[in-house]
Amino acid sequence: MQYRQDGRGGRRISALGLGCMRFPGFAIGRPDLRSAEAIIARAHERGINYLDTAYLYPGNEACVGAALQRLGLRDAMIVATKLPHGSCRRPEDLDRILDIQLRRLRTDRIDCYLIHNICAPAQWKHLQSMGIEAWLARQRSQGRLGAVGFSYHGSAADFPVLLDAYPWDFCQIQYNYLNERYQAGTAGLIAAHARGMGVFVMEPLLGGRLAGKLPDEAKRILAEAGRDPTRASVRGRGRSRDVKSVSALETPAAWALAWVLDHAEVTMALSGMTSAEQVDENVDIACRAEPGSMSADELDVIARVVEVVERCGRIACTGCAYCMPCPAGINIPGCFSAYNASFAHSWFTGVQQYLIASGGLRRFLSGSASRCMRCGRCLGRCPQKIAIPDRLHDVARRLTPWYPGAYRRGVRRSSD
Ligand code: SF4
Ligand code: SF4
Repeated sequence: MQYRQDGRGGRRISALGLGCMRFPGFAIGRPDLRSAEAIIARAHERGINYLDTAYLYPGNEACVGAALQRLGLRDAMIVATKLPHGSCRRPEDLDRILDIQLRRLRTDRIDCYLIHNICAPAQWKHLQSMGIEAWLARQRSQGRLGAVGFSYHGSAADFPVLLDAYPWDFCQIQYNYLNERYQAGTAGLIAAHARGMGVFVMEPLLGGRLAGKLPDEAKRILAEAGRDPTRASVRGRGRSRDVKSVSALETPAAWALAWVLDHAEVTMALSGMTSAEQVDENVDIACRAEPGSMSADELDVIARVVEVVERCGRIACTGCAYCMPCPAGINIPGCFSAYNASFAHSWFTGVQQYLIASGGLRRFLSGSASRCMRCGRCLGRCPQKIAIPDRLHDVARRLTPWYPGAYRRGVRRSSD
């Protein structure tokens, strides 16, 4: 494993961290303990020393706590979890939530504590008005909390304001080759690093979109470049390439992860791994993907892929499910994934996925996009700021096969 220094925290953190949100069972809100144990055990064996959960991931903190206890790995791991600031209405809520988290995680301390998804300075000001700074100082002096940071899905303009609002030890940002100018972006990464903070990256694979869900044309570009033996002789940015590292870029996921870790400002990339095999694949990449190790040619390949994805991609859904459940029974991420597939692959693939995601024909499309009643419950929950009801309308128009003109429009626009 490759380790990087954690800014102000001064710890050695594995360049790859284990995101626990997508453990098997996550879709139904019941993470599977046996699978979680197998994943955590393999992660530890392969040198990963950081794992990330949150109060708001259903059943996840309790699952992580039980797995760590059964494996005897609590002290071997840096455990990170998050405060749901939207659930803090009174100062007493801070203690109440932390007590629950410590109980769920079966521990007496949380090594890295994040304010979850703080997107605007006003949200931090609200917490300040409840005395959060004094509360954090007290918890730290009592040893219940270690490093303090925040996770971010807000605008590029607000990010520096938040960086300077508190002496954070670290921040967690969404960052990948499609998001260089989105949310905190590259400018935010550099700004946080320049302030001496650790920068942890979430969504390096954009919820799997940069792995198996890439458009066929983008997959072809990566596959051809991955097989090209001449890449081994290309000189990197200011240094020659390690010939052996070529094997690390055989899959789209490898390219995406290597691109993130190529940035010296990144302390660690979090990946939501769902099996021990996936841990092995990602660790193999993280071992080799040192800062500045991608060649100019490889970066050019990524630029071509970005061009293709931007041309084909339509809805920037990462599948995080923060918008769920929907009272109308709509599988929101499933609908958006089908919609994107209808552009990236074919209209027929999209329709097929849509029928499955919305309950299938036998259940008369009980969760179809057209059932949105615009109650507004999902609005404001989406970190990607997707106008969910409007986009569901687009999904229904495009993917309901009997919708007037859907077939003609779909077939024509799939090949745009
Ligand atoms: S606005 Fe539509 S999609 Fe959102 S929660 Fe309400 S019914 Fe569901
Ligand atoms: S619509 Fe937004 S909140 Fe819902 S799954 Fe997609 S990215 Fe997450």
